Formats: sequence, C-alpha cells, structure tokens
Amino acid sequence: MTRLEYTNIDNVPKIHAELKETFRSGKTRPVPFRKEQLAQLAWLLKDNTDRIADAIHTDLGRPAIESDLLDINPSIGEAKDAYDNVAKWAKTEKARWTFNFFAMRPKIRKEPKGVVLIISPFNFPVLLLLGHLASALAAGNTVVLKPSELVPATSQLISDLISQYMDPGVVRVVNGDVSVTTKLLELPWDHILYTGSSRVAKIICTAAAKHLTPVTTELGGKSPVIIDPKCDMKLAARRILWGKIANAGQTCVAPDYVLVPREAQDALVNELMEVYQTFYPEGDPATSASFSRIVSQAHTTRIKRLIDGTKGTVVVGGTVDVEKRYIAPTIIRDVPVDDSTMDEEIFGPVLPIVPVRDVEEAIQIVNSRDHPLSLYVFTQDAAFKENVFSRTQSGAALANEVLVHVGATGLPFGGIGPSGSGSLTGKHGFDAFTHLRSTLDNPKWVDAIMKGRYPPYTPEKLARL
Ligand code: NAD
Repeated sequence: MTRLEYTNIDNVPKIHAELKETFRSGKTRPVPFRKEQLAQLAWLLKDNTDRIADAIHTDLGRPAIESDLLDINPSIGEAKDAYDNVAKWAKTEKARWTFNFFAMRPKIRKEPKGVVLIISPFNFPVLLLLGHLASALAAGNTVVLKPSELVPATSQLISDLISQYMDPGVVRVVNGDVSVTTKLLELPWDHILYTGSSRVAKIICTAAAKHLTPVTTELGGKSPVIIDPKCDMKLAARRILWGKIANAGQTCVAPDYVLVPREAQDALVNELMEVYQTFYPEGDPATSASFSRIVSQAHTTRIKRLIDGTKGTVVVGGTVDVEKRYIAPTIIRDVPVDDSTMDEEIFGPVLPIVPVRDVEEAIQIVNSRDHPLSLYVFTQDAAFKENVFSRTQSGAALANEVLVHVGATGLPFGGIGPSGSGSLTGKHGFDAFTHLRSTLDNPKWVDAIMKGRYPPYTPEKLARL
C-alpha cells in the first residue's frame, strides 16, 4: 500500500493564514489569473491521466475505463467549462430596472467568498476534489483541499501534482486522518464544501456553526429505482446493473434498491441474470478486469454483514473475501422493506429487489424514508414518470437512466435534506463559492425627489409618499 504523507498538524493554521494573505492581496480576483489556474488544473489532469487512473486502480482496483469516464474526464470537463465561461459568470449584473431605483444603478457583483475548504470522500477521489476545485478557483477563492486518507495512492499523487502545477499561494493540500480534519475545522473558513457520509456531515456542520461558516454538503443515502412493469425490462436491467457494479457500487448516486411490482419481479431478475453473464463472460467477476474492489476491509465487513443478515434470496453473487476486499456483484430478490440491506446506504455491489403491490406502494416506501440523492424510474409511459416525479422528493430524478446526470452540463448536482444541501458543477458550482454582493450608487440629484425620507416627518411629507 502506498504511504500517504500526512501534513504536520501544527502547520495547518499557517497554511490557512498564507492563503488568507493571498486572498487579501487581491491576486485571485482578476479573471485572467483565474483562467490561468484553471488551465493549469486542466493540464494537471490531461498530462497525468494514466498515472491518476493507475493510482485509483492501486487504491480501488478500479478499471481505467471507469476512472476515465466517471472521474477524470468529468473533472477535465469542469475545468474547461469554467475556463470557457468564467468571464461571463463573474461579470457584474445589473439589477432589474424599476422606476424607484434605476437612478441608483443597482448592481450585483460576483465576489469570491475568501479561503475555502473542500473535504472529499474516497469513492471519486478526483472529481469530488479537483472538479469542485475548478468551481472554487473560477469564483476567485483560495482553496485548501482535504482528500480522503482511505485512497492513499491517489491522494498522494494529487498532492504531488497540485504542488507541481498550481500556485502554492492559492491551492494547498492538507492530508491526514480525523485529527488533521479536526484541526482544519477549528479555523474560520469562508466556506466549506463537504462531500461524504451524513454521520461525518453532522460533525462538520457543528464545527462550522462555531464560526457561522456557510457549508455545502454533498451526502448520500439510498437512491431507489421504481420499475413500471410495462417498461423495457432488458434496458432497465442493463442500466441498473451497470449503475450498481460501477466502482463496485461505491457511488453516491448508485441505484441502491429496486421497487418492482410483484408480478414483474421474475422478468426483471431473468433480465438481470442475462446481463450479468454478458458483463462477466468469464463467469467469475473475481478474475474480471472490469470490476473494482471495496475501499477497506472494514467496509467489506460492513457490507458482508448486510448480505449475511438478509431475509431475501440471493440469486447471484454473495461471495465475500474480506482480506482481498472483494464482494461479488450480488442480486437479492424477495427483499422485505425491514431487511438488513434496507437499513443503510449499501455503498457496495449488492442489489436488493423489493417486490411491491404497485407504484402507489413504491411511492409510499420512498416517501417514508429520507429524501434520496437520486431517484430512478424505468418506464416508457410519460404519465407513470410524472406520477413518480411529482409525488416524491430527491436530489435528482431520472427516467430510464442512472448516474450520468452527474456529468450532464448545465444540470445542478446536489441533494435535498439528509442527502445534502446546495448545488454544484458548472455555473452552479461557481455560484456555491460566490457571494452576490449588492451595490448601488445614488447621485445627489435624487434627493430632490427623495428628501421626504429625512426628519422631521411631517404630515405633508407622509401625504406625498
Ligand atoms: P466519510 O464521511 O467517511 O469521509 C469523507 C471525508 O471526511 C474524508 O476526507 C475523511 O477524512 C473525513 N472525515 C471522516 N471522519 C471524520 C471526522 N470524524 N471528522 C472530520 N472529518 C472526517 O465518507 P466516505 O466513506 O469517504 O464516502 C462515502 C460517503 O460519501 C457515502 O455516504 C456517499 O454517499 C457519500 N458521497 C456523496 C457524494 C455526493 O456528491 N453527494 C459523492 C460521493 C460520496
């Protein structure tokens, strides 16, 4: 295992102070400077795509194609999108024209917040760190990055590359475990972006509250799939299983469980089994180069516990090797809603299928739980889709697709309630790290018509208002 060099805890306040000084100097404000940093970030990713994919493979056994598709390319896309559009996004906007205020030239300045902290999880160690860095830089901030210590090879490589490509007065990486993050959280950041579990999010938000620091949280949860029994079952099976096995299910928007009308369960399971054979023609995903490993033995044991406790029937998979951090893609049918696999976000390649009476029961199950980060529906019927979309709540809602919205240009990415708050990517990410500063400048002549506001407040003045 690659060793991750932890940052000396005593240096953390100094790093914060240095970035504050850069920010106060105004260096990060000019758009050309922001673009220079964004170009550097894009080159960092482009020049080192293979090294980064190798590092992720070392940490997660993830196939290079998944890293390119889901982690590295979307990060390059974020840097390029910000580079191309930052001048437009950062432009001061005129407020809507109104008779009462037009003379004061009211405007909205897009101002950077200051020194921001980005804390990221292990599962998409590039996109959730460097993709969001693009937004923070575009907005003109200085940034401390806190990568996950659970992916040491990737976090070490990113730290080395950041110091090689980026201005050290503007972007710094702080590595370490809980003690280092705890030290970071003692400082008065101007914004914190936290991506990770809801358990840790409560710790982050509590610490941020001490300084009244605004926080964007990108969390997880159990993203459901609702099946219309009349849908294209082959298509549904292929896309759902891909969404479940990509990164071995360690994806915040992975389809967590499937709600299918009881009479359609056999058809869905049959299609899933067929897809399974096509994904792993060798027969054993353990020897397949197309399947990742679980990040740690602790997480492997946690997921094993969910499989061991199920009241459903395992139709394929179920094999676990804790030492090798391997969990076979596992499909479980006839899962009741009070099952072990329904207790918490699975975050592994295990797909529970919950038979329901009909779509009404499916909606009721979704609504009885925390709002998920994503909700998926498979149907070719527009009314079925609208019924599900309009009677549920989730960060995003997709029909006949899974996962891909994360990289869809222009769509905000974020949760609602327990799955997170705030929106990211593209212009939405820029906005998250930007303060909308209202300005106006009132000329002297306006007093000729507004002098009624000054005391003494006489009845004549009141009558003229
Ligand atoms: P995690 O919460 O364990 O860790 C995330 C970060 O928090 C890491 O950098 C870690 O060092 C830090 N951390 C851990 N414990 C801490 C503590 N006690 N105090 C301060 N900092 C601490 O999350 P994870 O296991 O790396 O990631 C999985 C979770 O992240 C899942 O719940 C998943 O759904 C969620 N996630 C959400 C998104 C999204 O965009 N919404 C994306 C990816 C993952």
